[in-house]
Amino acid sequence: MIQLGCRVWPVFSKSHSWAGLVSAATVSAVFVTDPATTLLGLGFGLLAASVPDSIQPNLPFIHWRGFDGHRGVSHWLLVAVVSTWLWSTVWPGMWQYWLWGYLSHLFLDLLTVQGIPFWGPWPKRVNVANFVSGGWFDKLLERLLPVVFGLLLLVWGFQWWIVGQ
Ligand SMILES: [Zn+2]
Repeated sequence: MIQLGCRVWPVFSKSHSWAGLVSAATVSAVFVTDPATTLLGLGFGLLAASVPDSIQPNLPFIHWRGFDGHRGVSHWLLVAVVSTWLWSTVWPGMWQYWLWGYLSHLFLDLLTVQGIPFWGPWPKRVNVANFVSGGWFDKLLERLLPVVFGLLLLVWGFQWWIVGQ
C-alpha cells in the first residue's frame, strides 16, 4: 500500500503530557510570569510536547529513513529549534514554553531503546538510555511528574505572591 501525505492526529501520551506541563511550570517558576501567561504557557507546553508524536509524514513511493513515519522529522532537534524560532516571531511571550515542551518530548524519547533521529537530517537514530516505551520507567514518570508539576506550581505561585506584595 502506498501512503501519501502526512498523518496529523493529536497524540497525548501520559508521560509526554506531564513532561510538557513540568517544562512549562519550570519556565513560569524561573521567570515568575503572570497568571494569564502561566495558564497559556501550560497549554502551550502541553501542545508542544504532543506535537512530535502527532505529526507523521509519509512520502510518496520512497521511504526516507529518519524523516517519515513515527519518530521521523518531528523528532529532529533542528525542527524543535526552527519551530521555536517561528513561534518567537508570531508570539514572543510563548517561545520558551514551546522550546522546553518540545525538548522534553525529544529528551524522553532519547531515553528509550528505539531512539530518535535527533541529529536529523542525519538519519541515524540515537539514544542515551535503553528504557522501553510503556515500561516501568514510563509508569514511574506518570506518577512522579504530576508531583513535580504540583511542586513547581507552588514555587511559581509563592514567587508571584511575593512579587505582588
Ligand atoms: Zn515521540
